[in-house]
Amino acid sequence: MSQRNWLSSMLTLRCPKCRKGPLFQSGQISRPGSLFSMHSACPHCKQSFEPEPGFYFGAMFVSYGINTALFITAWVALLFIYPNYSLGLLLGILVVVVLLSLPFSFRLSRSIWLALFVRFDSSTGNTGNP
Ligand SMILES: [Zn+2]
Repeated sequence: MSQRNWLSSMLTLRCPKCRKGPLFQSGQISRPGSLFSMHSACPHCKQSFEPEPGFYFGAMFVSYGINTALFITAWVALLFIYPNYSLGLLLGILVVVVLLSLPFSFRLSRSIWLALFVRFDSSTGNTGNP
């Protein structure tokens, strides 16, 4: 298996230190709360996924950016599909987009935030490679 790079490990929600261990426990759509369950430490290299209390407060700003990009994409799509839209329709679509993307944006924003502060350690990431 080839080594993940910084971007692919972030997008596939992997530990930024070893790029192998999953950040989140496997969620089930039938139990929505499980979609937000995160490992306390990396199952592969034992890197803590909460370096300090309140660490993920800053991930809200990343989530804000992701949601803004989704809003603009939905708005532009609506402009092309239905140019005479009403404000109520736009707000309804935005609420649906936010609710459907919530698990995605939550997980991705935490992955990006953690990757900004935890450095890759090749000694932990190469244990499975020849
Ligand atoms: Zn790890």
